[in-house]
Amino acid sequence: MRIILIGPPGAGKGTQCQRLLDLLAVPHLSTGEMLRNAVRQATPEGVAARQYMEQGQLVPDALIVGMVIKRLELADCRKGFLLDGFPRTLPQAATLDDLLERRAMSVDGVIELAVPREELVRRMTARRRADDNPEIFSNRIVSFEQQTAPLLDYYRRQKKLATIDGMGAADEIFQRIVASLADFGADEKRR
Ligand code: AMP
Repeated sequence: MRIILIGPPGAGKGTQCQRLLDLLAVPHLSTGEMLRNAVRQATPEGVAARQYMEQGQLVPDALIVGMVIKRLELADCRKGFLLDGFPRTLPQAATLDDLLERRAMSVDGVIELAVPREELVRRMTARRRADDNPEIFSNRIVSFEQQTAPLLDYYRRQKKLATIDGMGAADEIFQRIVASLADFGADEKRR
């Protein structure tokens, strides 16, 4: 299956992603992780991305799209993938659709992990990460609301969006996600 997981910072994507990976047995394509590795190794992409990441802003589309294309071309992605943190802008989504279409493929489904903003802020105060200081965290929420939230409509129009209530126990949330996967599968069979 080719699945995208979308959610604002602090929505619990990490936890749910891990469970989904265990279930689906597909590669995990996390652009945040790719970028953090690139920064650590001081590759040209990492050097270019660092300043944006430190401010909680999105890195330029061209930079991240190049990295994702290279990753999608590896053989393990033929059985599917779980995209985590990508796409995050409409141009990234359009590029992904084009890329898959050229290989006669498409995204099977998009899972939105929905959590109210007040709850995100509450959770943030309980976490510690270099890009989680209050100002940077709020930049990341603004980036999500302004640049990533429009993707939800984009995928809703394609009838691929499943909005999952991200409040409650991790197990319950995961059960909701699993139920939505069955719908993606059903769509696949109807096509
Ligand atoms: P994440 O771990 O997914 O929250 O990503 C950490 C940081 O990497 C983000 O705050 C952005 O600066 C950058 N980043 C990750 N994925 C993308 C993307 N698809 N487009 C632009 N920037 C990204």
